[in-house]
Amino acid sequence: MVSIYEAFYVDNYKKTLISIEEIKPEEYSRKYWGKLFCTEAGCEAKLSYVKLPGNKSHFRKWRESPHSENCIHFAERIDGRTGTRQVGVQNGFISPEQMKKAQREAFELEILSAEERIKKREDDREKRLNKKNTKKVTKTVEQPAIRVIVDPAHKIEDTNQVKGRLYKRDVDALKEKDLGQTRTVTGRIEKVETGEKSALVRICKNNKFVNIRFGEAFFADAPQYEGLFYYIDQFATENNNAVFNATGEVKQNEQTNEFELIVFNRDGLLVHGRTLSYIATTYSIESDKN
Ligand SMILES: [Zn+2]
Repeated sequence: MVSIYEAFYVDNYKKTLISIEEIKPEEYSRKYWGKLFCTEAGCEAKLSYVKLPGNKSHFRKWRESPHSENCIHFAERIDGRTGTRQVGVQNGFISPEQMKKAQREAFELEILSAEERIKKREDDREKRLNKKNTKKVTKTVEQPAIRVIVDPAHKIEDTNQVKGRLYKRDVDALKEKDLGQTRTVTGRIEKVETGEKSALVRICKNNKFVNIRFGEAFFADAPQYEGLFYYIDQFATENNNAVFNATGEVKQNEQTNEFELIVFNRDGLLVHGRTLSYIATTYSIESDKN
């Protein structure tokens, strides 16, 4: 997508070509509002003025006034969600390595003390600021939002898939906008329930609860984990406040209104920094000794 820096200003049937620099923000609502249009031939999209710092101001079409299909600014809306600089939604994937890395980072952050956490946040901020200073100024390009799908039932064969970002959320930080998205969620184990090809780990942070669900799709990907969730229960009983990290799709339970996380991948869980196989092996070696 090309950003728009020129518009036709139509006033009293007089059409003038103006550029973004000519618009004085304080004049916009009084003088230009509703009178700016796309300059492409055959396109009558109404434009508004978006004021942004650092030479990033541009024109944007009105919500209800699309560009004509032949206009270079025309963008098909694939999904209902489009952000300011995001055009449509592209399918993305995350690798097992990304999952494991996100869970490990989330675990390490969770076990830091409060002071260490504040210090880490400050260090990270400083790092980010330093990066910004050295970054070359490049023109912002409009890009589609990337939606990562982990549910095998909804996965589509799409060769254009790109690597998506994996966001981390503590249990108490989950929001409506995370619904339907793939997230790595972190909390302390409250209880574990196991069934046939199903398991549930209830985790908590600051009095907010999330059920992490493992169903048939998960056990199809990880048949070796069947019957092993019992060890998570044992581990949580022996270790107070055991940390649990899981990567999956965020849902909302209709009865309780609580957020839930559905895990589909064998790499979708970490038990206090350990894999389930590791915990199960440790316990079975111990029971062999007895
Ligand atoms: Zn147009």
